[in-house]
This record gives sequence, structure tokens and C-alpha cells, in this order.
Amino acid sequence: MANKVPVGILGATGLVGQRFIQLLEDHPWFEVAWVAASERSAGQTYGEAARWKLRTPIPAHVAKMKVSEADPAGAPKVIFASLDAPIAKDLEPRFAEAGCAVISNSSAFRMQKDVPLVIPEVNPDHLKLVECQSWRRKSGGFIVTNSNCSVMGLVLALAPLQQQFGLEQVFAVTMQAVSGAGYPGVASLDILGNVIPYIAKEEEKMEAEAPKMLGRLNGSAIEPAPFRISVQCNRVAVEDGHTESVSVKLGKAAKPEELIEAWRGFSGKPQEMKLPDAPAQPILYDTAPDRPQPRLDAERGGGMSVSVGRLRPCNLLDWKFTVLSHNTIRGAAGAALLNAELLKAQGYLG
Ligand code: NAP
Repeated sequence: MANKVPVGILGATGLVGQRFIQLLEDHPWFEVAWVAASERSAGQTYGEAARWKLRTPIPAHVAKMKVSEADPAGAPKVIFASLDAPIAKDLEPRFAEAGCAVISNSSAFRMQKDVPLVIPEVNPDHLKLVECQSWRRKSGGFIVTNSNCSVMGLVLALAPLQQQFGLEQVFAVTMQAVSGAGYPGVASLDILGNVIPYIAKEEEKMEAEAPKMLGRLNGSAIEPAPFRISVQCNRVAVEDGHTESVSVKLGKAAKPEELIEAWRGFSGKPQEMKLPDAPAQPILYDTAPDRPQPRLDAERGGGMSVSVGRLRPCNLLDWKFTVLSHNTIRGAAGAALLNAELLKAQGYLG
């Protein structure tokens, strides 16, 4: 503990909070020092309060921790937040005002002009936006966000195409896992043997967040990337891993082997800086005709690599392919952790 940065988790008992606790066990830089959740859980030990859903046990020292109220008094200065948006809207600014670095999973502030929405391999320079935040100027605190879980894999797959060939149009259809809805999430009678062609506000989030992340930092603002995007979202009876069928129109002609090379050769700051949770290869291209599949591929690269496959010509746009990413790791807790590692490596966490 002596040399590690103490961190707190807001919403620690939820599905994403549990992933944070799992990923932070034995982390070389960070140590869980504080867990907080709703009034339902506050005052109990974490082991009593959490309805633990992961396949590894609760780390012993966390199981014994008392769950705190969601109040900045007594909280560490680095906070991982996994709260539903209406609650985050109220609570996250209180922590930022109190001088905390809030590394958030929620949609509450993702589209706010001065809040960075970051994938470290794609747009690490957007972190500079924190300097425009009033919290930063007053107390040193700030909010940094990671994206919605379904747009994360899509943007990672699009980034090398945009960089090398330009991007004009994107059409995506998602098949999203039930863990994306938190716990207890979707009722079993609604989802077993079924597909639900609606996830509230998901399509709007994907269509807004992708251009922001693939956009350009211009002084104190992000200019969204100008491609057109249309998304359709579905909930399917899969435990973990969001699969997406994607079609793209590129800015210039490209051969299939050039696209595959762009994906396989893609890497960014996390790989260059050897951040602890950076996957060796952020994008894995699989040549098998029936991959990627959530059960077989969601955990590749420790859940931090995005799998792409089935590249073929599209009769409407230029190319179509399949993308898969782990929604609670690369799409949530792992994404926030990689943001925190980048922030620490760049001196933002003291
Ligand atoms: P979840 O399983 O429903 O967990 C919600 C957490 O928030 C629980 O710890 C809950 O505590 C806590 N909470 C509820 N009301 C609170 C309050 N008034 N004050 C303090 N804490 C409160 O949800 P989740 O799936 O972990 O998602 C959390 C956030 O991450 C959401 O914004 C979600 O959109 C986002 N996200 C989720 C995923 C995913 O794949 N699941 C991916 C990306 C982003 P109690 O246990 O005490 O009720």
C-alpha cells in the first residue's frame, strides 16, 4: 500500500464496480482504499452488501471493508465512478469540487464541452480539456469519462480506418450482452430465448459519442469528426460481450489486406508507455469465417482487446465486418482504469 495511489470506487457494489475491484486486485499503481454505494449498502461490509457476480472471489481485504456513504468527506483523491447517469449528475461534480480526480463510466458528463471522453489509444490528447474545467481551477479536481460500452469497440475498430483511409459513413447493428444493463438488469422472462430491439438512449449515445472521440481537439473544444453514422441496438441473451455488424464507407479506395494490416498494426500511447492494463494488441483480426464470438473471444487480451473479423465487401457502403468487445472490461471498468493509468503517467494524479 505504501507506494500505491489509494483509490475509491463510487457504485462499488454494481456490476462495473465489481469489475473495478477485480481489475484493481494486485494493481501495481493503485490500491482500493474506499468503497461507496447507495444507502441500501452503506454501513455494511462490502462482502455483505455486494451481490458478487464475477468468477474470481472478492479480494479478502475488500470483502471486509465497510461500504461508505457516497460523500467526498473521507474519500481518496482518485475516484472511479460507476453510477447511473441521474445519480452521477448530482454526485460526480461534488467529488470534483472537493478536489478529486473523477474517472467516470457514466453518460452524465460525456458530451459536456469541457469533459474529455477518452479511449487512450484513440484520442489521448483530449485529456487536455480538463484544464478548461472550473473544478480544476478551483480545487484541482476534474472529471474524465470513458464511452458507452457499445461504442467503445466500434470506435477502436474505426480509428485505424479513419487515420489511414478517411471515414465517410458508418452503419452498425449491435447485439448487446445482458451484463450491459447492470444487475439485476433485464428480467429473465424478457430476455431468455429472445431479442429486445430497444435499449433506451443507446443509439443516440453511440451516434453522439463516436464523432466526439474521433474528433479533433481545437484549443478548448472538440470538433466532432464529420462522418455520418446510424446505429441500431439490440439486447440479446449473451452474458458478456457486445457484438456489432458494421458497414463503412471510406474516404479512399483500400484493399482488404490493407484494412486488416491497419487493424493489426494499430497501437497507441498505452502500448508505447507500457501502461499496466494496455493490451499488447488493442485490435485482433481473426481470419476464421465464424469469428469473433462473445463466448470464445470476449476475454481476449484480458478483455481489453477488441476482436474484428468477417471483413468482406458491402453492397451498400464499401466494406462490412464484425466487431466484438467485452462490455464491462474494455467497455467500462478496464476503460476507466486505462484512462487512470494514462492520467497518472502524465502527472494528473499527483
Ligand atoms: P448497477 O449494477 O446497477 O450498479 C449501480 C451502482 O450504483 C451500485 O453500486 C449501487 O449501489 C450504486 N448506487 C445506486 N444508487 C446510488 C446512490 N443514490 N448513491 C450512491 N450509489 C448508488 O450498474 P452498472 O452496470 O455497474 O453500471 C454503472 C454505470 O456504468 C452506469 O452509468 C452504466 O450506464 C455504466 N456502464 C455500464 C456498463 C456495463 O456493461 N454494465 C458499461 C459501460 C458503462 P447499491 O448496490 O447500494 O444499490
